[in-house]
Amino acid sequence: MPDDGRFPPVMPDHPDESTNPLDVLSRVFGHPGFRGRQEEVVRHVASGGSGLVLMPTGGGKSLCFQVPALCRPGVGIVVSPLIALMEDQVAALRQQGVAAAALHSDLPEGESRTVLRDLHNGDLKLLYVSPERLVLEGMLNRLDSLPVALFAVDEAHCVSQWGHHFRPEYRGLGVLAERFPRTPRLALTATADPRTVEDIRRQLGLQEDPVFRGGFDRPNIRIEAAPREQERAQLRALLREEAGPKGAMTGAGIVYCGTRAKSEQTAEWLRGDGLDALAFHAGMESDAKRDAHRRFARGDSVVMCATIAFGMGIDRPDVRWVVHLDLPKSPESWYQEIGRAGRDGLPARALLLYGAGDIALGRHRIEESPAAPEQKRIERQRLDAMVAIAEAATCRRQILLRCFGEAECPPCGNCDVCLSPPRLFDGTVAAQKMLSAVLRTGRRFGVGHVVDVLRGKLTDKVAQFAHDRLPTFGVGKDISDTAWRGVARQLVAQGVLDVAIENHGELVPTDAARPVLKGEQKVMLREELVRAAAPAPARAGRPGSPAPVGDSVFEALRDWRRSEAQAQSVPAYVIFQDRTLAEIATARPRSLDQLGQIAGVGRTKLERYGDAVLRVLAGV
Ligand code: ADP
Ligand code: ZN
Repeated sequence: MPDDGRFPPVMPDHPDESTNPLDVLSRVFGHPGFRGRQEEVVRHVASGGSGLVLMPTGGGKSLCFQVPALCRPGVGIVVSPLIALMEDQVAALRQQGVAAAALHSDLPEGESRTVLRDLHNGDLKLLYVSPERLVLEGMLNRLDSLPVALFAVDEAHCVSQWGHHFRPEYRGLGVLAERFPRTPRLALTATADPRTVEDIRRQLGLQEDPVFRGGFDRPNIRIEAAPREQERAQLRALLREEAGPKGAMTGAGIVYCGTRAKSEQTAEWLRGDGLDALAFHAGMESDAKRDAHRRFARGDSVVMCATIAFGMGIDRPDVRWVVHLDLPKSPESWYQEIGRAGRDGLPARALLLYGAGDIALGRHRIEESPAAPEQKRIERQRLDAMVAIAEAATCRRQILLRCFGEAECPPCGNCDVCLSPPRLFDGTVAAQKMLSAVLRTGRRFGVGHVVDVLRGKLTDKVAQFAHDRLPTFGVGKDISDTAWRGVARQLVAQGVLDVAIENHGELVPTDAARPVLKGEQKVMLREELVRAAAPAPARAGRPGSPAPVGDSVFEALRDWRRSEAQAQSVPAYVIFQDRTLAEIATARPRSLDQLGQIAGVGRTKLERYGDAVLRVLAGV
């Protein structure tokens, strides 16, 4: 089998070794225990069951199929939509001594032949394969004659048109249920939208099988949102905080941008600031994309400025922060994107910057899209849910988790609202002024014109409709344009005003507006949205201890890891994750036995690197 050359290939199925899931977990992966619902899934699949796993990004889906594949006889077939993703997972598995390989269209002829030969000889435990390759008749026939441990369909939402990454090739996977009815099939996704979930089950023939829904919370990710005022200054502030007093950022960061051009411009000015910044979007040549993926996976403190095209295939556990410069189109896509931060469980950050224009633009895009009315309605609901999170005056994570069906969570303590609760003030009078301006102008205008009326601006439009003669004309001079827009957004977020997206985005009062106008219902508004933006919250109180950047033992281990990764040309984290190095630096093991006790040090890694690590420790 192809291997990294320096280490002997590892043969599958040692007949004398335990296939108990917990033993496999600790022997191969070096983890002391399963997380969340992993164990339940692993036992179910290891004993021949099929099912669907819903877990957030970074929740630990890979082990749900990797461990049972190692517990069962035969090869585990993993369907994965992205070549970069396959390659990184295969590299990581080989580091752990697992005989793994990938089969896809970019593989040189000779290498595919070797992989197929290994497959035939029973020399593979895990084979990653692209969906279009798997469903070729020739490939299915081959598998008919082999022991197959299981089929895993990763990123299973690609099968659904409702999902946000529909891939027609995934549709063909329905054939697996017919051709291999006795082989376990496990679909995995981070999407929890009920419609998508049912579609996946139907497409993949999993209606009768259990759905394992992991907790969707990712408590180590701090969530923050703020109106976009000066996005570069806001991004720089975050970068400064991430760099800390030493001025060096560790790990990686992602800046999601609304357009391709913006991703390139942002990368350019960040490079001007001396950062290793890359751009990624769907308009790039596939070679350039693959190169960017690789540089991101391997770079030490790299920033990726990307459109949402950059997503699947980011396996790096040490993405420390994700910033959105534009409003995402749904909580599902936002959560998937920010979920790429902090997979290693160490503190990570997600910052969302948004403007009122984003909301209008998002709504406009939905209207202009060729989607069916039903689909548009769903997308509008999703966008509204996203706006509610952005404008939240209560714990943002609570609102987010509610979107995923988790209704009973206490305030999280790790979002900006929890950490520095917004000061609310009684904004009833402002709300009444705005509502009455909306009503008196005849519910026919968008926020721009309504604000002009409130501020008493004699624009052409105001003159044309004689709105300067309304009693509300100029009653809101004491509040700035920006602040009035903030009031409008919050009234929309609180459901007092609606935006008539079917037409031209005009503001329309809802039933909830009547008690407000009559003075029977108070409206609380966020002070800082009506005034300036809030200062960045203090960084104290994050769960988990950060990687001990600057600690000499930790740094020495990182230097060693860097040269080892370069020598093997693999991403550094597949050798050891930061988290593992941090534990080693703290525990300072003196023997291989002690080193082997540390989480993340499995048997193969101990054999390969144990002596080198002990030497590094002895040298500092
Ligand atoms: P997903 O595919 O759900 O996004 P991964 O499978 O990539 O998530 O796992 C995310 C991270 O969590 C990885 O760095 C992995 O090593 C770690 N991890 C997963 N399960 C465990 C476990 N039981 N114990 C320790 N670390 C784990
Ligand atoms: Zn919170």
